[in-house]
Parts: sequence; structure tokens; C-alpha cells
Amino acid sequence: MNNNQTLTRYIFITGGVLSSLGKGIASASIGLLLKQSGYSVTIMKFDPYINVDPGTMNPFQHGEVYVTDDGAETDLDLGHYERFLGESLSKKNNHTTGQVYFEVIEKERRGEYLGKTVQVIPHITDAIKNRMKLFDGKKDFVIIEIGGTVGDIESLPFLEAQRQMYLDLGRKRVLNIHLTYVPYIKSSGEVKTKPTQHSVKTLMEYGIRPEILLCRSENKLTKEIKSKIALFCSVEENSVIDVPDATHTTYEVPLTFKQQGLHNIILEKLGMKHVEPNLDEFKKFVDRIKRPTYEVTIGLVGKYTQYRDSYKSIIEAFIHAGSINNSRVNIEMINSEEIEVVGAEAKIGHLDGILVGPGFGKRGIEGKILAIKYAREHNMPFFGICLGLQCAVIEFARNVCGLKNAHSSEFEKTTQNVIDLMETQKSIKNKGGTMRLGAYPAIIAENTIAYKAYQSYEISERHRHRYEVNNQFRQILIDNGLVCSGLSPNGELVEIIELPNHPFFIAVQFHPELKSRVITGHPLFIAFIKSALREKRKKEKS
Ligand code: GLN
Repeated sequence: MNNNQTLTRYIFITGGVLSSLGKGIASASIGLLLKQSGYSVTIMKFDPYINVDPGTMNPFQHGEVYVTDDGAETDLDLGHYERFLGESLSKKNNHTTGQVYFEVIEKERRGEYLGKTVQVIPHITDAIKNRMKLFDGKKDFVIIEIGGTVGDIESLPFLEAQRQMYLDLGRKRVLNIHLTYVPYIKSSGEVKTKPTQHSVKTLMEYGIRPEILLCRSENKLTKEIKSKIALFCSVEENSVIDVPDATHTTYEVPLTFKQQGLHNIILEKLGMKHVEPNLDEFKKFVDRIKRPTYEVTIGLVGKYTQYRDSYKSIIEAFIHAGSINNSRVNIEMINSEEIEVVGAEAKIGHLDGILVGPGFGKRGIEGKILAIKYAREHNMPFFGICLGLQCAVIEFARNVCGLKNAHSSEFEKTTQNVIDLMETQKSIKNKGGTMRLGAYPAIIAENTIAYKAYQSYEISERHRHRYEVNNQFRQILIDNGLVCSGLSPNGELVEIIELPNHPFFIAVQFHPELKSRVITGHPLFIAFIKSALREKRKKEKS
């Protein structure tokens, strides 16, 4: 409903008290409500770190790196936005302090500031505001999530830009929402509002007055507590919204918001027409997550297993595929290095399927290869992603083709590097933003697991890798029974491999998890869970 197409409204979401409160989910949930009310929406994230993008960061530091169609390596919150909105975003949706300073310093070097002293205000803040306005006139709503916690030194220029946006555009076009934490103190049985009061006070010192407070708490807040927060923080009572720790799933957050009329409050404050969001399909999707009929247990084999955010999109894709199969998907994180010590049977023998995930570096590789060998030999459903495909090819080359020294040149240079650096990568020295990144098409062969899942001969999936199947060994692999069921359109790159005569053995060079969305899921994850359920049933019968 682009009734106000040229008059974009901006909704800022800041976070207070502590990090990891779920600002990303809150932003995505508000996006979903507005979109389902018929408005056009996009969501942007401004990250206060100095890295140009998270591409060079260790997953332990920053969680998964989310890749967009246009090849930007972005914050994992973009994953939440895409999953909830069901739309593909781009590099225009994620900005970092590093990018902003890079732009300003380059401009300074070109002499474009005409002799002026270049300063945080106005030069950095102007550059930030220009980025905040990239969708101006194109969307009814632009939701802008500011990374970090209010009070951090790093986020100050972003908050200053937010303050100025309100000043420039006025209260009918800019709405400030603050997500905060209301702790429950067990020993005294009390709920404490002071941290929230302080956080709002800090925001006000920066010249930002939040009009809506989203209060993360253990349980629902009582009316008294809400009144107290409203009074002390100077917001209307109906604008104090509960975000009780989601008992089942974060996918309940949009439903909780709708129940409290958050969409109406937002539309009212921004002078927009009220429309009731249609969450019927979404609600059914969430109900199946909460009360599934079936259950399977999948092992996620990898190296970054202590930190679940490293595999955020994979875990979400499993939740989606679970809902579609009406099944709970329990995920067991399996550290592949432990498989090297105790063997595959002990670590994965009890599972209904395994997924060997993406990764970089040699550590844990042999454990992944052992896990894949076990799955191949025991008819256990197997799904490999990126490094998972590369390990599957090494395993097959070593144990089926008899190429004993098969390896990836990322880990060891041998005469049998079945996985090797792509030609286009050989001359590249810089690490940042130089992999094969973003969406590429692939052609799917008929009568394959891949075709059965996708029901299409041409697909587009997102990539993030430097290495690929070495074509010198492709024929040997094929002669021994490996099926290359997906290839780049020119036939040069292997995108999907699979094994016939196995219940489900497929691996992909790309990242399907990045395109799994609520309600619809991703075809490969759906097919994988379906086969895991089928094999589990077979086992139970025998
Ligand atoms: N390290 C491998 C490569 O660069 C795999 C990357 C990945 O799993 N995303 O090709």
C-alpha cells in the first residue's frame, strides 16, 4: 500500500542495559507486522565496529557471517530480517563504522572537503545520515537497528545521526523505539525497573526520547510495573510493551507484539492508516514449531560448536524445515575433533542424520571425513554444506576411488588435491571481501535428489568460498559413482554432489541456509528432514 510512497517513515531501534536482548528479532518482528499490514518495509543495521564488514571476523567473535545476493558479507541480524520479511536484502542494508570512515577518509584524500577540517559532526554524521536515507521514497517504512548498547562509546555517531534525523524529519516521520531489560531478582521476588530508567536517561542525554519501550523480561510485566516504567521513562502506558523470554521460540515474538497492539501504536504515532496484519499462515507455522507431531535428532558436525550463533542460519533453516514436516528437529552439536578421538560410531551412531557444515582451516577436518564415511556406509541421511561438500569429495576420493592422498589444497598440498583453489582466486592476496561471494545460478540434472527437492532445472544460491572441486579429478569421481547433480551454467564448477543408492546423501558448494524463510523453508532442508524422518521410522519398524 504505497499511499505515502515518497514519505518514508523511519523507525529506530536501540538497545539498552545489556547486549543480546534480541534487537534483531524485535526489528524483524516489527518489519513482519508492518509488511503483513500491506506496507512496504526494509530493515537496516548500523554496526559500530571498525571492521569494514564481519567477513574477516572469527565466528567465535561475531557469529555467522550472513551473505546477501549481491555478495555483501554482513551481520547475522540481516538473516533475521530476510527470514521474517521473506525478502532478499543487499549491501545497502548493513553499514559499519569502518565503511563510513573509509568513505569519509577517501573523500578527504580526494580533496573533496575543500580545505575544511573533517570532523565527526557533521562529516561522519552526514555520511551516516546519507546511508540511513538510501531507501528514502522507496519504502513506506525503513526500520533502522543500531548495533551495540546505549552508553557504548562506539555507537555515539550513529545515535547522533538518529537524533538529527528526528530533528530534520519530525515526529511524524521518525519514531524511536528502545529495547531494554527488566530483571527479576529471585531472592527478593521483585522486578527491577532501574536499569531501564538509566538506559532511557542515557538516551535522553543524547537528545533521543524513546516513544515506545520494548521490555525484555523473564515473565510478563504487571500493570503496576508498566505504569511505573511509563512514569519514570516518560512514555505512554500503552507504549510499554512486554517481550517475555520466548518460552518456545523466538518466532512467537511477532505474535506477542500483535497481541499487544504494537502495530497500531506505531501506525498511530507515525500518522499512518491502521490495518490489521494478517499473521494467519505465520501463526500456523509457529503452532507447528510449538506442538509438532514428530521428532528427529540431527547432528551438526563442525568446529565452532560451542557457539550456536556460528551456525545461526542453519539452525533456523532446521526450525523452518521442521515446521513444514510437522517435526521437532533436535540439534546435537558435534565437535568433529572429538570424532577423531573416539570414532564416528560413538559420536553420531545414535543420530537420525548429520549435517557437516561450513568452515575454514584444517582443524577438525579428519573428524568430519570420518563422520561422512560413517553416514555413507550406514545409510544415514547426510547433508554437506560448502566445506561439508569438500570433505565429502575428499572422503569419496580416498575411500571409494582409492586416491589415498586425496585432500584439499587449503589444508595440504598433495598430488591428489581433489579440492583446489579456484583459478580466479589464485592471484588474490587480500582477505576481506575476496571470496566467491553472493548469488550464482546453477543447473540441476534430472532424476536426482536435487531435482526432486527443488523441482526446477535452474536455481540461484549464495556462495562464500575460495576452493572448489578440482576438474582434473571429476571424471574419476563420476566413474566411481558420484553424481554431480548441480553445475555452474558453463559446466566448469561443481555445485552439488550426491550419491544414488543411498537414502539421502547430498552436499552443496553454496549456502542454502541463507535462503530459508519462515513459512516456506528451503527445499533441501525440507527434503533432508523428510528423509531423516523416513529412515527413523524404518529403523523403528525393523
Ligand atoms: N574453506 C572452504 C573454502 O574457502 C569452505 C568455505 C565454507 O565452508 N564457507 O572454499
